[in-house]
Amino acid sequence: MGFEADFAKWKNSEFGTYCMTKCKATCCDMRNASLHINELELKALFGKEIEPAEHKAAGIREAKERGLYYLDADMGFCPKFDTTTRKCLDYARRPKSCREFPFLAENDAVVIKSGCSLGKGDPAYRKLVELASRYGKVIVKRAGR
Ligand code: SF4
Ligand code: SF4
Repeated sequence: MGFEADFAKWKNSEFGTYCMTKCKATCCDMRNASLHINELELKALFGKEIEPAEHKAAGIREAKERGLYYLDADMGFCPKFDTTTRKCLDYARRPKSCREFPFLAENDAVVIKSGCSLGKGDPAYRKLVELASRYGKVIVKRAGR
């Protein structure tokens, strides 16, 4: 199958289940992770267009990458986060940044960014270690939002 396909399968199965059933969604809190979004995603996230003049008050900041924005850490939880169920209100259509978080696949490593609660004790993590080592990769935890 190859690493990419096996990794995608793991993300959709074991990791997806961990996200939805065990995690307290620490990455949906902007104090833990940084969500980078384009204009369309921004509109979907707030449920309406936010004029540039209102960005600052709404907690929207321009990212270094052109055309991308991030949400200020002071905002706390993302507008699409349901604090009662502690789940995303639009998980199937969440931004690319959420879909990719917290992983970076590199030649010899799978990087897990800080802000994700997946820990060594969980079977999903152990499965990832097995998968990574099958392809000669190590797991690296990297600080930084
Ligand atoms: S869009 Fe959903 S998954 Fe992404 S940060 Fe917001 S609540 Fe979390
Ligand atoms: S913190 Fe990690 S495990 Fe939890 S929902 Fe976010 S990506 Fe999934």
